[in-house]
Amino acid sequence: MPEGDTVWHTAAVLRDALAGKTLTRCDIRVPRYATVDLTGRLVDEVLSRGKHLFIRAGPASIHSHLKMDGSWRVGRHRVDHRVRIILEAGDIRAVGIDLGVLEILDREHDQDVVAHLGPDLLGADWDPAVAAANLMAEPQRPLAETLLDQRVMAGIGNVYCNELCFVAGLRPTSPVSAVANPDRLVARARDMLWANRSRWARCTTGDTRPGRQLWVYGRQGMACRRCGTPIAYDHTGDRVAYWCPACQR
Ligand SMILES: [Zn+2]
Repeated sequence: MPEGDTVWHTAAVLRDALAGKTLTRCDIRVPRYATVDLTGRLVDEVLSRGKHLFIRAGPASIHSHLKMDGSWRVGRHRVDHRVRIILEAGDIRAVGIDLGVLEILDREHDQDVVAHLGPDLLGADWDPAVAAANLMAEPQRPLAETLLDQRVMAGIGNVYCNELCFVAGLRPTSPVSAVANPDRLVARARDMLWANRSRWARCTTGDTRPGRQLWVYGRQGMACRRCGTPIAYDHTGDRVAYWCPACQR
């Protein structure tokens, strides 16, 4: 599932592929923007902000959000019905697949769509003090819900949310007021995303061997790595919760 680290890495891959190059093909397969053609425009910047991605070309900015299943691929990816946009610069091709959001914005104002976000965990403007204050702003709010709120801090999705609840020793449903050290939890969040920003395989345990990368996420019924208790699971809509009934109170 795309989280802030995946988007940061995607931006880096797209930047390597397209930045400084002139588009030789621009095929947008979203009805509203089907007539927009950025062919001939120079791609001069690719940036990520939380889970949002911007490809800036001349006066336009291609804004995308991967949501649950979206991705960008560079290379000779097959063009099928899931492809929403094709950008080419000479022999380089980048395609956006199943993008949850794809829109063409006026470059001057493209950051308006992310103005509501809290500090970006992987951004140049990362501010742990603001993030910690945001985290604790509503003491009774459930921890998982608060961590997933991009206005609190930007970049956390279901995987990091569950892993952070585990390292905090709290259940996803615990109120944030139960967090003993907000600064420490915010620092852990930053460390987790930072450590994973340049790879696709995600690891929060420090052990990158297959099957050992995560504490609780995706491990329903399996033994807790700390105490051996079977990991519990619950879900509501898009939200999933994994926790150790013994380690997390
Ligand atoms: Zn445990």
